[in-house]
Amino acid sequence: MDFAFTPEEEAFRKEVREFVDREFPPKWREHALDFFSNAGGPYDEQWSLHRAMAKKLGAKGWLSLAWPKEYGGRNSMLLQHILAEELSYYRFPGLDPFGVGMLAPMLLKSGNEEQKKRHLPGIAKGETMWCEFLSERDAGSDLASLQTRAVEDGDYFVINGQKCWTTAAHRADWGFIIARTDPEAVPNYRGLSFFLLDMKTPGISIIPIANMAGESEFNEVFFDNVRVPKENLVGGKNRGWFVVMGVLDFERSCIPAYGIARRNLDDALEYARKTKPIASALRNRLAELIVECEITRLVHYRAIWMLDKGLIPNYEAAMTKVYGLEVNQRVTATVCQVLGHYGVLTEGSKWAPLDGQAPSRYLRSIGNTLEAGSSEVDRIVIAQRGLGLPR
Ligand SMILES: Cc1cc2nc3c(=O)[nH]c(=O)nc-3n(C[C@H](O)[C@H](O)[C@H](O)COP(=O)(O)OP(=O)(O)OC[C@H]3O[C@@H](n4cnc5c(N)ncnc54)[C@H](O)[C@@H]3O)c2cc1C
Repeated sequence: MDFAFTPEEEAFRKEVREFVDREFPPKWREHALDFFSNAGGPYDEQWSLHRAMAKKLGAKGWLSLAWPKEYGGRNSMLLQHILAEELSYYRFPGLDPFGVGMLAPMLLKSGNEEQKKRHLPGIAKGETMWCEFLSERDAGSDLASLQTRAVEDGDYFVINGQKCWTTAAHRADWGFIIARTDPEAVPNYRGLSFFLLDMKTPGISIIPIANMAGESEFNEVFFDNVRVPKENLVGGKNRGWFVVMGVLDFERSCIPAYGIARRNLDDALEYARKTKPIASALRNRLAELIVECEITRLVHYRAIWMLDKGLIPNYEAAMTKVYGLEVNQRVTATVCQVLGHYGVLTEGSKWAPLDGQAPSRYLRSIGNTLEAGSSEVDRIVIAQRGLGLPR
């Protein structure tokens, strides 16, 4: 069995590393945010950097690597994954998971030609940032029960309702939203439709929510008679559930858990090598975690390989997400233990190691087991669709 990448793929990985080395402004390299915080845009200056770097990535043609050649891509999901793995490891900003990781593959699969022509170029150039309006206060895991309404009115749908936990809604140029177009439909998921939404449309109000780490990445968003042109409906009226299931599979597959976790682990290892000997139990824990990181990588490669072959990973995507992000949670908790008492110090303290980011990285990792479908829901998907177990 040969798990090796081709010479072209290895050369690409090297090129990405050289790019990161060249382009990462030294000031930010020292204070780099990780993948999720970059995508959530909690801080103004870092968000500007995220946008600037997205344009540089776009100029190199690296935001459309997985797309078919006729849309300007290189038809390689593996190259896109190598990019995400490297950028997440180096905590390099610019990769929009909503546009590049979710919306673009969904449009390529379910969008019409008009929609592809209109929206893909902005994603490819790194000019348009996206956000995802699925969850509501009372509809998260049970997404099909969502209450936001979209009612037809001439050439428009008029949206009223409320979404919650929308990452980067305060930053995005466009969003994709699922809303109820048939309240009588049985089962309820057959009454939902999927729209593309210009965030400049009147009637959208955004209220920030701080996460456990104190950062405002996500928001509560209110829709008051928001008019969406019919051409922004994707997949057909009342067919939104099938679109959104694909989006979730892409979402679970696009999170580069290995790069995120491995970098956190490497930080702890570097610190541990430089300081006094650590307890043998902790040393053993670090050894176990490197094994878990490698498993994360291989489980993910399987999902990516499927995407590369034009297949859509389903329970395989859930395996990738649940395992990789739970590994990162264990890694970030262990990083705090390795730092000992210093592990509770945050940014601003001169005694805080690792830029004082260890506590917030641990706190943020807990949200990972909820977003993109909770770990419990992932386990249900794996049990039912992967193992064929009854509901
Ligand atoms: C950091 C972060 C970012 C997010 N970003 C976005 C975003 O950009 N866009 C968006 O639309 N949403 C976003 N979300 C929302 C996320 O998708 C939801 O939190 C998630 O779907 C869970 O829904 P909920 O919060 O309503 O919890 P609930 O569904 O109420 O679940 C509460 C708990 O019960 C468990 N549970 C629920 N049902 C079952 C079941 N059948 N069996 C076993 N256990 C169950 C869940 O696993 C969870 O632990 C984000 C969430 C977080 C934490």
